[in-house]
Amino acid sequence: TKRPARSRFVSIPSRISKVTNHISNSLAHADISSVLHPYTDARAHERQGPVVIDHGKGIYVYDDKGNEYIEGLAGLWSVAIGFNEPRLVKTAAEQMAKLPYYHTFSHKSHEPSIRLAEKLVEMTPPSLNHVFFTSSGSEANDTMVKMVWYMNNALGRPNKKKFLARNKAYHGITVASGSLTGLPNNHRDFDLPAIPVRHLTCPHFYRFAEEGETEVEFAARLVAEAEAAILEEGPETIAAFIGEPLMAAGGVMAPPEGYWQGIEALCRKYDILLVADEVICGFGRLGTTFGCEYFGFTPDIMITSKQLTSSYMPLAAIVFSDDVYNAIADNTAKIGTFGHGFTASGHPVATAVGLENLKIIEERELVANAAKVGRFFQARLRELADHPLVGEVRGIGLIAAVEMVADKQTKRPFAQPGKIGATAFSATQEHGLIVRAIGDSIALCPPLIIDEVQVDELVNRLKKALDDVAEWRS
Ligand code: PLP
Repeated sequence: TKRPARSRFVSIPSRISKVTNHISNSLAHADISSVLHPYTDARAHERQGPVVIDHGKGIYVYDDKGNEYIEGLAGLWSVAIGFNEPRLVKTAAEQMAKLPYYHTFSHKSHEPSIRLAEKLVEMTPPSLNHVFFTSSGSEANDTMVKMVWYMNNALGRPNKKKFLARNKAYHGITVASGSLTGLPNNHRDFDLPAIPVRHLTCPHFYRFAEEGETEVEFAARLVAEAEAAILEEGPETIAAFIGEPLMAAGGVMAPPEGYWQGIEALCRKYDILLVADEVICGFGRLGTTFGCEYFGFTPDIMITSKQLTSSYMPLAAIVFSDDVYNAIADNTAKIGTFGHGFTASGHPVATAVGLENLKIIEERELVANAAKVGRFFQARLRELADHPLVGEVRGIGLIAAVEMVADKQTKRPFAQPGKIGATAFSATQEHGLIVRAIGDSIALCPPLIIDEVQVDELVNRLKKALDDVAEWRS
């Protein structure tokens, strides 16, 4: 493609003739000339420029031209309590004024990180009693990998280092977490995976079940596949199995019934740690506090982030068992330190905001809201199953996906994967709804505060967009 002729200097405000658009134009130009955007085709961005989001209110955000959008993905699956919560602003401001920064290295601590750790231990399953803070889900998963390796070295089993993950999993993009992720674009040309990991079949019944297989049979086959992989590699080499309770960023896919019980039993049988990546499911998304609670399994390590602070501040937490803690703690005594930690581990403003956010989720009963409004949301979305473009509507609580297919009967995908998805993404935006297109699936994950009237509005906007896409195709 031809790059439009542009010099950095034509973008300065004085060269922009349309004074009324002065700010947005100068912002757009500055964005194009200076920002490399995550998850964006940079050359396409140079042509079309950014959508500059200016402010938010409840489940809505507004761009700098005054257009309103329902934030159907809660930002990045994360703004549980909506986009203008004054209590979080106040909490952040007060903490900024009192102690804007301190670290937690070498025996130092501060109240917000202590209180939030205590709260997480209280909220998570009884066997999880210890917390390590990072600033992002990716850093949390990288930290988890290093903790597991450190632990197994300490326990005198240096060969027990491999991970089991799934195709289409999303665990982040740093070197170790990106290796655990099972999506081609996160590996391609990044030289990943860079750690020993084996990706198993994605537990999505609609796409990966065999002809005539029931859900229970599908689950049993996937568990048998995992066991075969463990035996082939040697159980003494497998350190951990990691999974999102419901796979989100790969396409919103709940596993078949019995899957997690089977995987949990394998982990116990072969002394493999079970890691639940709750970065999206955690704090109410499925209508239960955690995804592992919804599916009925107990991890040894839980990864949380996103809705932990409603993403008002960057924060993630790894919550883990006594066994993991004790092995690590003993080794720190032997070495004299735990040689791992971030400048912002347990950042006081982020942890203060996290604690207040969790209080709000509790006080407003947003987990129960996700269950109740979630049932309505799922039912309304399933009405779209009759739409000519729609192959599957799936999801639990306040997370869902609508998969578009070329042929409803055979489930045949489109010849050019992602094209219809991208068109639907633009069409929804034109109708005032922000979604995520994952291939040809449209993912939805609205703030937990959404009510039934707003769900109606969201589904109506989505339906209009799907109709536009269908018309455009014919
Ligand atoms: N784990 C899961 C399940 C996620 O969905 C994500 C992000 O979407 C991550 C980890 C990575 O988090 P971050 O983007 O904060 O690095």
